[in-house]
Amino acid sequence: MAKIILTGDRPTGKLHVGHYVGSLKRRVELQESGGYDQIFIMIADAQALTDNADDPEKVRQNIIEVALDYLSVGLDPAKSTLFIQSQVPQLCELSFYYMNLVTVSRLQRNPTVKSEIQMRNFETSIPVGFFTYPISQAADITAFKATTVPVGEDQMPMLEQTREIVHKFNTVYGETLVMPDILLPDNKACLRLPGIDGKAKMSKSLGNCIFLSDTEKDVQKKIMSMFTDPNHLKVEDPGQVEGNPVFTYLDAFCRDEHFAKYLPDYDDLEALKAHYRRGGLGDVKVKKFLNKVIQEELAPIRERRKQFEQDIPAVYKILEEGSRKAEAVAAQTLADVKKAMKIDYFADQALIEEQAKRFREG
Ligand code: ATP
Ligand code: MG
Repeated sequence: MAKIILTGDRPTGKLHVGHYVGSLKRRVELQESGGYDQIFIMIADAQALTDNADDPEKVRQNIIEVALDYLSVGLDPAKSTLFIQSQVPQLCELSFYYMNLVTVSRLQRNPTVKSEIQMRNFETSIPVGFFTYPISQAADITAFKATTVPVGEDQMPMLEQTREIVHKFNTVYGETLVMPDILLPDNKACLRLPGIDGKAKMSKSLGNCIFLSDTEKDVQKKIMSMFTDPNHLKVEDPGQVEGNPVFTYLDAFCRDEHFAKYLPDYDDLEALKAHYRRGGLGDVKVKKFLNKVIQEELAPIRERRKQFEQDIPAVYKILEEGSRKAEAVAAQTLADVKKAMKIDYFADQALIEEQAKRFREG
């Protein structure tokens, strides 16, 4: 069976380092591994509109930001199909049919949707589109017959939901859809990178992000202002490493060679953590080190972004061509789905002939 990747991001803002460690970096590695037959990367504008219906301009403006972020981290349109969700209308049609296979109570149990509803203060006025976005994600994944979905941990319930829909569909209508698997980051710190404010998740919607496109100065400012262990007041105080985002970021980003290069007093991260726990290591020193490590990772991304920014029409062309290619693939799946669901009347010559005969013969 072909190995196919589908993943994506909502154009609700620029992409941040949480996206990078949680998904983007892995995508580029998978792209370069040559182990996949097809890779589809989707800018999920239709999904972004489910909770931004009154702000279409925000979604519109962020399409290009996300596309530039994609290209600057190394997603290559010659190897991966970059496309825009709303330009593939078959996805809506698939969602509509999948809705029949999911109950309201099942959607209400989705922990990610639950916490996102709370975060957005929807209370009782939840847009139906938002409430059902896990179904639309199932359409996105299955439309491309994806076998592999590389995403962050918050997407686990979505994948579970998709797998249930695939199972139900195939049971009711016959083997049609491909069962996808989630691919989570190997590094635990990357599953859900916290915000610079120490909140559980770095998220565009929470305003606690280091963006891939931030200037060197901005990144430095953000890192130096990061939340750490609130009880680590004086340098001599013993500090806590667990739940301290500065150390979580180091877990996510730093490698042993960074110590040799920027902080040769320590062999590795374990040695630095041990000193922090013992006391006698100030936050500023750790943050300065973290800044060096992150800047090293972001500098080439920033450089590449500048190049792509010089030719915006070319970026739109990439998205347009990608969307066209994606549409052709989704159309084939939709045809399979409609056939399985017995709603392919005009293509079913046997049905027409059989009925013609029956009516003729009375
Ligand atoms: P929004 O607040 O609009 O939902 P977001 O920051 O959560 O934005 P998404 O576009 O919803 O970003 O997520 C895109 C991908 O990035 C998903 O695979 C998600 O799991 C991953 N991701 C997002 N935030 C993080 C994070 N803090 N750590 C690891 N992965 C993340
Ligand atoms: Mg999100």
